[in-house]
Amino acid sequence: PNTEESQILIDGNVLAARALALAGVRHMFGVVGIPVTSLATRAVALGIRFIAFHNEQSAGYAASAYGYLTSRPGVFLTVSGPGCVHGLAGLSNATVNTWPAVMISGSCDQRDFGKGDFQELDQIAAVQPFVKFAAKATEISHIPRVVLTVLSHAVEGRPGGCYLDLPTDVLHQKVSVEDASLLLSEAENPRFRVIGDSVSNLDIEKAVGLLRKADKPLIVFGKGAAYARAENSLKKLIETTGIPFLPTPMGKGLLPDTHELAATAARSLAIGGCDVVLVVGARLNWLLHFGEPPKWSTDVKFILVDVSKEEIELRKPYLGLVGDAGTVLDLINREIKDDPFCLGKSHPWVAAISKKAKDNVAKMEIQLAKDVVPFNFFTPMRIIRDAILAQGSPAPILVSEGANTMDVGRAVLVQTEPRTRLDAGTWGTMGVGLGYCIAAAVASPDRLVVAVEGDSGFGFSAMEVEVL
Ligand code: ADP
Repeated sequence: PNTEESQILIDGNVLAARALALAGVRHMFGVVGIPVTSLATRAVALGIRFIAFHNEQSAGYAASAYGYLTSRPGVFLTVSGPGCVHGLAGLSNATVNTWPAVMISGSCDQRDFGKGDFQELDQIAAVQPFVKFAAKATEISHIPRVVLTVLSHAVEGRPGGCYLDLPTDVLHQKVSVEDASLLLSEAENPRFRVIGDSVSNLDIEKAVGLLRKADKPLIVFGKGAAYARAENSLKKLIETTGIPFLPTPMGKGLLPDTHELAATAARSLAIGGCDVVLVVGARLNWLLHFGEPPKWSTDVKFILVDVSKEEIELRKPYLGLVGDAGTVLDLINREIKDDPFCLGKSHPWVAAISKKAKDNVAKMEIQLAKDVVPFNFFTPMRIIRDAILAQGSPAPILVSEGANTMDVGRAVLVQTEPRTRLDAGTWGTMGVGLGYCIAAAVASPDRLVVAVEGDSGFGFSAMEVEVL
């Protein structure tokens, strides 16, 4: 043993910071205070950028969006008790949107628990309904393994929110530098790749057969496909087959809204008329009318591609393909390559969608061309749209919240690049705006970030303007 290293002691704060740095964490959002201030300063000393918020809620929203934009867990730090409770907003937002995020909270001294300690709460029990996985380090030697395990759970399979509890006494315990290095090297390396089950060749053949024989095929994609960075595979599939596509709100931009096969402006016709739909990384939840009549036809055949087996089992589609969106789409593309088919512009279904979309866009343009003063929603939205388009590439990231602002914005604002729209999402969360802006600026420093927010939505997190 190196006698010098066996004599120098470090505490749980240093060890946790070292484990985070070892796992490749580069940014941390949060609000510091007792007992986690030292953890934050130690992390900063190791090169992790700490972005200090006014409220844990916004820090959590930022971490969730950071997870979505980077495919790495967004980490945020809170104090015990109320800090942890405020953070649940962001943690649950991550889980519901299936984005990887980790909330790390300090908690009261384990020996004083139950006696009415400062900010005492059974935090593991409190977070349980909102997380994929939660763990507590009950002694200092657990820290490296627990940190790395929690980070892995956030990204593995279907991503989601995870929680790590660090009690005060554990943060203050000490180990020698030598033991710390050993503990760190023994901790399992986190797996930052999405792991999907393997899809059988037979199912891929079936999927292609269904699309090939369909009279009115449609491809729907969502933020799961965006998270999977499946844009190139999707583009290839759509452009070789000529099948019209419909993005969900945050799927917008995987292929440009201006693409000739975009059915965005003919949504009702596309949904109501299609007979076979390939749905990639989007749940048949409220946003897609549960895949049920009357919006969808009774005999529509769904082919679902999702990394989550549970999701596919829940929806009971005609055909389910469990796996990473990019991987499954590549298998489909490979299967088509041997015997290609393309609908072509004059195909009745493609022509009908194209005509409806053009008519609807023309109608909206008439509204947009009117300069109405005092402003309605359309006039400022047109000005913002043109300013965003004038930016070119890399396209700005658009953050949007507020019911009307989001609805009108979804129709008017044009998305041309993947992962450039962040909105209230699956949980319809208001108050995400400024946290999302900060996350977007951190995750994509090359892009301009534009927040288009209703005044009420903005009010939820307005003070975070100072952080921004
Ligand atoms: P949207 O709001 O755009 O409709 P949802 O959040 O409802 O999208 O659905 C996203 C889906 O994508 C989730 O069911 C999730 O399991 C899935 N998903 C996440 N990552 C991947 C991936 N790498 N490949 C395929 N599906 C994924």
